[in-house]
Amino acid sequence: MPSKNVAIGGISTECSSYSPLYQKESDFTSLDGEALLDLIDFPFNEYDLVAYPIFFNKSVPGGPIEGEYFEQIKDKFIEQLKQIDNLDGVLLLMHGAMLVNGIDDPEGEWISSVRKAVGKDCIISVSFDLHGQITNKIIENIDAFTAFRTAPHIDVIDTYRRASIILARALKDNYRPCVVWSPIPLLVSGEMSSTFMEPCYSIYQSLELYDQEPNILDSNLMIGYVWADTKRATAAAVVTCTNQNSGAVVCKNIANQYWDCRKNLKSDMKTGGIKDAINWLGGDFSIIADSGDNPTAGGVGDRADILKEVLESEIKDTLFAGIASKSAYDELKQGKKFNLGGSFGGGGPSLELLAESVYFENKCAVVKVKNSTIIISSIRRPFHNMADFTKLKIDLKDFKLLIVKSGYLSPELQELLAPSFMVLSDGAVNQDLKSIENINRNKKIYPFQDFSDFTPQVSNGLILIN
Ligand SMILES: [Zn+2]
Repeated sequence: MPSKNVAIGGISTECSSYSPLYQKESDFTSLDGEALLDLIDFPFNEYDLVAYPIFFNKSVPGGPIEGEYFEQIKDKFIEQLKQIDNLDGVLLLMHGAMLVNGIDDPEGEWISSVRKAVGKDCIISVSFDLHGQITNKIIENIDAFTAFRTAPHIDVIDTYRRASIILARALKDNYRPCVVWSPIPLLVSGEMSSTFMEPCYSIYQSLELYDQEPNILDSNLMIGYVWADTKRATAAAVVTCTNQNSGAVVCKNIANQYWDCRKNLKSDMKTGGIKDAINWLGGDFSIIADSGDNPTAGGVGDRADILKEVLESEIKDTLFAGIASKSAYDELKQGKKFNLGGSFGGGGPSLELLAESVYFENKCAVVKVKNSTIIISSIRRPFHNMADFTKLKIDLKDFKLLIVKSGYLSPELQELLAPSFMVLSDGAVNQDLKSIENINRNKKIYPFQDFSDFTPQVSNGLILIN
């Protein structure tokens, strides 16, 4: 039997409505060719499939994507897709939380353009981040759906694998899966819905049990993305199945399970204001997360609110990791005086500081000011892994307090088992949800509105399934 052809690629980012920073081409890194196949790491040849990598573009989450770049990169993807003859399948790697002004549903646009290019017989299998958004336009144009089942995400490659297996088996055994979904009018932050704690821990465990049921291929709970004030923002249950009615039953169960525990969705860390965090500090090595400015959720990463308070409180042996500022980095190349805070447009206080010492490493300036060490990064980026510190010749053992721009702590920082506090700080990804602007989101959505009546409605993207 001749082999079949599959194309692989996509685009992934998360866009906050509250960030002033528009994402453009230079914000994205691109993987293609062998590097993209290595990322997926799936033995397509064992299923008589030939894989054609297109490209996978990814950025550090930020503000909305510039419309021109979105159109241009989508057209480029479709052009390259059309150049592959006799396509039988497409594996799409998406995040699900893109925001492009003037386009209600960017992933829906991308996926429907892929469908138009490959025709109705081609099987499209997608992998999403569980913080992505779902719409009828997305569902009606795909045949299989998988999303991460961990947050913080430690199953990215596993999820690519789940999407690949469904695609490969369907092509090898000649059947066509389908996808059904139910929106759930509930939007919270990733920190309130971590899969490593209840109530989400148990719900995500139950997804594996649903997968064992007849006609069910892959069950998902989408938390959605709370910091995009868009009409499509919602949580959702999404099920890949071989029978829509079986899929609908599982969809309703997942939707009800999540809805019923909405009042228990809370952060696993202590939370409060900056002053609360400072008062909370004990003698042990501790971590404070500056959550409103977390770049991995879409924050700008340039705010100096917490730095200001810590310097004023004269707290000793503190490491700030880090604050993004190209202008401060350039100033420090010239001398000891520098200004920090809001230099990428993220707002907050601006501080005029004097460096007692400074060295440069890996596009960062490591500065000593009073009793604090500040990592000033010339680009927006997180400092969530041990390697981020060792590359800068920094040993965390030299500090009593680490301040990171983060929501829930990354797995590597969690492993330090340090007392931790999440500051509900200002910024593009403010965790104080009731205080954020809410103009375009559908009404009603919990917790923006408090209500209790919800009955899941399941759809295949075109019609309701009972
Ligand atoms: Zn995510």
